[in-house]
Amino acid sequence: MKKIAILGSTGSIGTQTLDVVRKNRDIEVLGISAGKNIIKLEEQVREFSPKLVAVWEESAAKELAARISDTCTKVVSGMKGLLELATMPETEILVTAIVGMIGIRPTIAAIREGKDIALANKETLVTAGHLIMPLAKECGVKILPVDSEHSAIFQAIHGEEKKEIQKLLITASGGPFRGKTKEELKHVTLEDTLKHPNWVMGQKITVDSATLVNKGLEVMEAKWLFDVDLDHIQVVVQPQSIIHSMVEFRDGAVMAQLGTPDMRLPIQYALYYPERRYLDGERLDFAKLSQITFQEPDMDTFLGLPMAMEASRKGGSMPTVFNAANELAVHKFLQKKIGFLDIYEIIGESMERHHVIEKPDLEEILTVEQETYQWIESRW
Ligand code: NDP
Repeated sequence: MKKIAILGSTGSIGTQTLDVVRKNRDIEVLGISAGKNIIKLEEQVREFSPKLVAVWEESAAKELAARISDTCTKVVSGMKGLLELATMPETEILVTAIVGMIGIRPTIAAIREGKDIALANKETLVTAGHLIMPLAKECGVKILPVDSEHSAIFQAIHGEEKKEIQKLLITASGGPFRGKTKEELKHVTLEDTLKHPNWVMGQKITVDSATLVNKGLEVMEAKWLFDVDLDHIQVVVQPQSIIHSMVEFRDGAVMAQLGTPDMRLPIQYALYYPERRYLDGERLDFAKLSQITFQEPDMDTFLGLPMAMEASRKGGSMPTVFNAANELAVHKFLQKKIGFLDIYEIIGESMERHHVIEKPDLEEILTVEQETYQWIESRW
């Protein structure tokens, strides 16, 4: 039995991970966690009988403990609880399906304990990639990408030498507002933003897809994961989301991974890497597939991507500011307190006032995160 724990088991990636577990009979789920969704956690405890469940909110943890007092599952809370979950002695793989920078500490703690990481939580690598990648190397742990684009690249370079890679081609659907002008974006609503054309995902990443911040985060994530500089990463809009990403090699060959949009494939690939397993679901039918089209991303309208590139080029603590500003801006947008274009304003202004700290340590990253939140709260 493969032994895993999941940070964020109640979300989009978390529940799909449990679906992969359900369909394969050789994975044991030792720990699960969520922010506050104890109804779903109770269902998951009763189905998977984990040893530990971590709930961020203490009152929700107490309520869950009372609800599952007839089981053997222990309930813990807060950051201490997430750290306990991330470092459970028997776990081999930690699936980081939590949303936001809150994932950094548990991910680092798990790496220190020698756990492989199935990484969905891209915010962790974006802000602390310079700490996480060397630490993973030092501790001999694998960082296995779950993001579909990075999984596609990971699959395309399997068996290849790093020095042969010329360029990573990260595909993007373009989100629900592809083709819209800046003027039209002034009037889009939260409901419009949450209608992603191809993928059903958590709310934060769905908004990030519409602003192209998600693509920017993915470029930064790819830079750390595959040790490739920004000049060798290109974003290509491919609206049908059939090609999940590509790699161009030194000899001009391009390897792509294609498939229907189903996150269970990259999740399963990460959990069983390098083995492939059967996965149910739709297959691509090339006879019916009328076209796969390509475009350049509209960097003048969708500022999430150029801003991310700028943050990445400035480096140090700037990606943390970019990410933290986006997290709070998206939170405010989801609460309908700001408009769609204000997200760019908040990120842009936050980056402008920040003085970069080169190679920030974990404490500095978390301090910059808090300072960014405080500045935004005082201004917006
Ligand atoms: P969701 O919003 O669907 O789920 C987030 C999960 O994190 C939930 O289980 C949530 O619990 C939990 N969580 C939130 N805050 C806390 C906290 N403070 N402590 C503990 N748990 C917490 O997000 P997604 O599954 O969509 O995304 C998760 C990560 O994966 C993100 O980083 C995203 O960018 C990345 N990703 C997602 C993809 C997708 O297809 N969804 C694709 C590629 C990457 P609760 O339910 O209680 O709120």
